[in-house]
Amino acid sequence: MTTSPMFDLECINIAKSFGAFRAVKDVSFNIPSGSFFSILGPSGCGKTTLMRMIAGFEEPTGGDIQIKGKSVLGTPPNKRNVKMVFQHLALFPMMNVFENIAYGLRCNGVSNSEIKKKVHDVLERIALPDVAEREIHQLSGGQKQRIAIARCMVLDPDVLLLDEPLGALDLKLREQMKIELKLLQHQFNTTFVYITHDQSEALVMSDNVAIMNQGRFEQIGTPQELYHRPSTAFVAGFVGDSNRWSGKVKTSDGSGGKVATEQGLEMAFTAAHGETIREGTEVDIFVRPEFIHTVRKTGSVGTGEAADNSMDGVVDSLLFNGANSRVLVRSAKGELIEADVTLTGNDDVKPGEEVSLVWSSKQAMCFAAQGAS
Ligand code: ATP
Repeated sequence: MTTSPMFDLECINIAKSFGAFRAVKDVSFNIPSGSFFSILGPSGCGKTTLMRMIAGFEEPTGGDIQIKGKSVLGTPPNKRNVKMVFQHLALFPMMNVFENIAYGLRCNGVSNSEIKKKVHDVLERIALPDVAEREIHQLSGGQKQRIAIARCMVLDPDVLLLDEPLGALDLKLREQMKIELKLLQHQFNTTFVYITHDQSEALVMSDNVAIMNQGRFEQIGTPQELYHRPSTAFVAGFVGDSNRWSGKVKTSDGSGGKVATEQGLEMAFTAAHGETIREGTEVDIFVRPEFIHTVRKTGSVGTGEAADNSMDGVVDSLLFNGANSRVLVRSAKGELIEADVTLTGNDDVKPGEEVSLVWSSKQAMCFAAQGAS
């Protein structure tokens, strides 16, 4: 099999079955050196199983895993140059910070003087030079995270795997740690593979993200590509917020046309990236709230490009979120549509007010419905 040494990690048609159940189905990807790669998907899609195969805790039932161009199939976890940070961190509570970080080095037979130097170096790099003698229970949640990473990084792995390490933190600390993890990855310049079901974590931190669904990768791309050019309806619905309509295409030139939605709306659409949409096809259409503009009788709330779609409705509620707030508008057919508005403070739309919603066909991403020809 040909190998490519420029990738720290390469998975080639990796599969895992538990009895008749296929948890991971022919997943292939590679990760360039020193990048931050996330695997994002809903609970049960196979993320942890994939990660455990990379770490060596599970053997795949098909395919190959290569680290720095060499297959690691059959190599036990402690012989792979891959380390893993678990959600519960698994720090040893009976040892102080120094001994926690030194543990792996001692197992590898590194001399005491070398251990001392390496532990102090790594503590400097994570900006915690003075905590070596502290007990684990004396650390804050964020400090424990950094020590868990330092304990792996001191062993100089080719790849660091992180299995939802922020899951147990409160919201505020999670927000801080997202930025910190990204900075740490830059600092060590080591490939991080991060699994999460939280899109905001994946989008903020990653160079590239794989969207996983039912054991398969739906799309791999930069956060911007996944958001603006989703290649499947699942990705469009999973990444970012969207309004979603289903319907049947009335007219189309392949790249765009008009759909009659199930709620009786005629909507101009654009075929999503890579899709060709024919007349008569059952489709799903996604429009992000920031591309829907709320127009009141006396003017517009929000601005945007020329809009060739519109719908009347009544403001149901406003969800305040600082400068950009969201308005929920109910149509005559009972649909609830979400639109983002920039509130000015003195002329906000009010619940009960009649408005029109307008949006461009360019922002109406259309996919053939699953199973549609
Ligand atoms: P979560 O985000 O909830 O942890 P996940 O995406 O990590 O989910 P996995 O833990 O990889 O998902 O599980 C994928 C599927 O494989 C699930 O349906 C799970 O029940 C099944 N599975 C995982 N491990 C085993 C096992 N040892 N035996 C049988 N089925 C398993």
